[in-house]
Amino acid sequence: MEQPGIRVTTASSGKPTPAVTQGKRKDSGQLTRDDFDGGPVSIDEIEMGLFLGNLTAATHTETLKSFKITHILTLDSVPLPQHIVEASFLTTKYVQIADMPRADILQHLEACVEFITSALDQQGNVLVHCYFGVSRSSSAVIAYMMKRHNLDFQAAFELVRSKRRFVQPNAGFVTQLKLYRRMGCKIDASCQRYKMHRLRLAGEQMRKAKILPQGFHSVVNPDPDITRENPEPNVFRCRQCRRVLATKSHVLEHKPRDRPVEERVIVPAPGPPPPPPTSAAQCRIEQLSERLRQASLGSPGQEDGPAAATNCRRILFVEPIAWMNRIMHNEQGRLYCPKCEKKLGNFSWVNACQCPCGETMTPAFYLIPSKVELSKTVQNVQTTV
Ligand SMILES: [Zn+2]
Ligand SMILES: [Zn+2]
Repeated sequence: MEQPGIRVTTASSGKPTPAVTQGKRKDSGQLTRDDFDGGPVSIDEIEMGLFLGNLTAATHTETLKSFKITHILTLDSVPLPQHIVEASFLTTKYVQIADMPRADILQHLEACVEFITSALDQQGNVLVHCYFGVSRSSSAVIAYMMKRHNLDFQAAFELVRSKRRFVQPNAGFVTQLKLYRRMGCKIDASCQRYKMHRLRLAGEQMRKAKILPQGFHSVVNPDPDITRENPEPNVFRCRQCRRVLATKSHVLEHKPRDRPVEERVIVPAPGPPPPPPTSAAQCRIEQLSERLRQASLGSPGQEDGPAAATNCRRILFVEPIAWMNRIMHNEQGRLYCPKCEKKLGNFSWVNACQCPCGETMTPAFYLIPSKVELSKTVQNVQTTV
């Protein structure tokens, strides 16, 4: 019978990962632990000079010397013991992070990759480790491999796993690694998925603290009615008082939720059921015309060209903006025009808001399209959405 604390578990599911279970079977207890250390020394060379291992490897001076380790990158809840950090032959870097899917590893990846790159450039040997060398540290190594060898996540993951068979970033880290890759192996603050990643983290904080912590104030954008630097040509104004509320770059676009057309077609209308389609081709034509009808209903913003026509504008999801004065201290509520106080929409840090098209957003800050109008200031022409 296993004792509490012995079994290797992922923080996300509480179940052993298949890879780890395999490891236990094949390599009698390599990844198990019988007290609160990381088990026996476990270290693998991923490519020349780059090692991935567990906490025990990182704290075992003999191991460090035998592998000629010169640099240690620690991703853990606690830093390495002082005698390791202060060892004369080592350069160390510590990243405090828990092995939780919601932990923000993305914000650390650039610095981790930089540390590994710099160590290898100096012909050093770098050990990247966490507690077991399974999730957190493997994420940093995968990020490095993606950037160094221009690989997508899956290719980098498989390459690392071929050298250390039980690596397994938790599900949240996998998503963040894919986002890191999508952004070109760096942080691109203008990327909508990155904005949503930050908003979700902020939403977590709001749920816990009921107030937006200082570290997340940057998710709230400056008020475009006050900030006149780099004015954008397209702005949304209050339809009643014409105060500028948002720019087009504040809009978090969404595609109309693509429900299977069959769902709607199959529901029998009152009266005799329509004759079944005689062929697959006819069925496809019906689906296509239904899609076109939905698209024309769903996105009136066609003046923006074909790309924008595919985005839904039945609800205008936007980023948080400084005039939304209730959002810093409330989990959810209504949005009012800061000038004429007309109700413009709603927000929620914690609950999903659903567009009439069926798509949901969490957190959500949205303006009701009938309460605002799109103003093309550059051409001095006002176009109503
Ligand atoms: Zn107004
Ligand atoms: Zn929609």
